[in-house]
Amino acid sequence: MNLITKDLLINFLIILFPLFLLQMSYLVKFVYRLDSLKGWFLSIFPILSLVLCMLFPVVIEVDFVWDLRWIPFLLGGLYGGWRLGIILIVITLLIRFLTGGENGFYISCITFPLIGISLFFISKYYLKISVSKKIFIGVSLIFIVHILTQFISTQIFDLTIGISLWKQYFTIQVIGIVVVIILCEVILANFQVLDELVKAEKLQVVSHLAASISHEVRNPLTVTRGYIQMLSEDVSTQTKVRYANIALKELDRATDVINDYLTFASISPENNERLRVSDEIQHVVNSIIPLANNNGTKLKLSLFEDEAYYILGDRKKFQQCLFNILKNGIESMKHEGELYIHLFQAATKIQIKIQDQGIGMTQEQIYRLGEPYFTTKNQGTGLGMMVSYSVIKSMDGTIHVSSVQGKGTCFSINLPFHSHEPI
Ligand code: ADP
Ligand code: MG
Repeated sequence: MNLITKDLLINFLIILFPLFLLQMSYLVKFVYRLDSLKGWFLSIFPILSLVLCMLFPVVIEVDFVWDLRWIPFLLGGLYGGWRLGIILIVITLLIRFLTGGENGFYISCITFPLIGISLFFISKYYLKISVSKKIFIGVSLIFIVHILTQFISTQIFDLTIGISLWKQYFTIQVIGIVVVIILCEVILANFQVLDELVKAEKLQVVSHLAASISHEVRNPLTVTRGYIQMLSEDVSTQTKVRYANIALKELDRATDVINDYLTFASISPENNERLRVSDEIQHVVNSIIPLANNNGTKLKLSLFEDEAYYILGDRKKFQQCLFNILKNGIESMKHEGELYIHLFQAATKIQIKIQDQGIGMTQEQIYRLGEPYFTTKNQGTGLGMMVSYSVIKSMDGTIHVSSVQGKGTCFSINLPFHSHEPI
């Protein structure tokens, strides 16, 4: 391979590099949901290619600066439309003017606008046609560019061009434009798939929501209805009490599901106020005592009562969040156990530690906490932790979980500290 082809190949790599950047930046946009990054931002990449190509050319003669600038130019014009085309023409002519060689500059002044005008008409239809037609148009344009340049250089400026060099240059440009169009199409197809994925994801959330509301609320209601119906039958008082208990439990389950959904979907308006952490914990603990007693769980509180710590948040949501974590702690202990609830102040944060002596979790389970519908329980909804995580996140806090299987789990909730007042 001779030196010129090598240099042209380097130029070719310069064209590919921004395409990879483009692919990566789109992934970043997708992952972080950067909706503000719109079409204009994609035009940076052909501009970058063009500038790099012209700054690292394969210089051969005084009048000719050989590089692959036509490829990003055609690509930008075809995919980006006429506005980008005009920007690319201006940049090309500017750089061409600064790099010297008068005749070459004049040739560019004729060829680029001429091809630019044809791009103006083609680009209107370009995005709608098939890939093979796109490649055909790309190759044809390269062909026309070469004929035009050759014609203008030899006929108007009386310049001679070495034919073998010309062939090499033409071949690599044709290969270049074909490869680059195919790559662009692959990248665009990826973009499309990702966009559709986001849409599908949203739709899935809605359909999942509808399905689980009807499933998780209707089931307990059906069960409750059945037991209430059986209450009217001629059965012993003991059986009636048992039926009534089951019916109540099922109703509670339906209420839990509805509460979780309401908290998560923020249907209840956000009502931020100054909350005294120990009061809130005490309130939730009081409401969960019946469940703990049923399960034989002892609740142990240490709340640092000599000072009052305040945080900012929505009272109902914060209570629901704590309730879900405490409930999980109680449910994790099949036999009697103790559930510790500590309240600390750590530097600028308030820390609430909730530790159980339950079955614990595997690393994978910890990782999946907070994911909607993730549950390992037969009667579980998999919504509780999703709610807790979203509430803590909305309060600018974090949750850290450490767990040992068979020993227990510790949830540490860190929340920004609002103020504290000595009692
Ligand atoms: P649910 O309680 O309805 O299953 P959650 O979202 O509250 O749904 O919890 C999801 C899963 O996380 C539970 O099914 C359980 O496997 C696990 N988990 C949560 N808290 C604990 C805990 N304290 N100990 C053991 N496993 C837990
Ligand atoms: Mg739960």
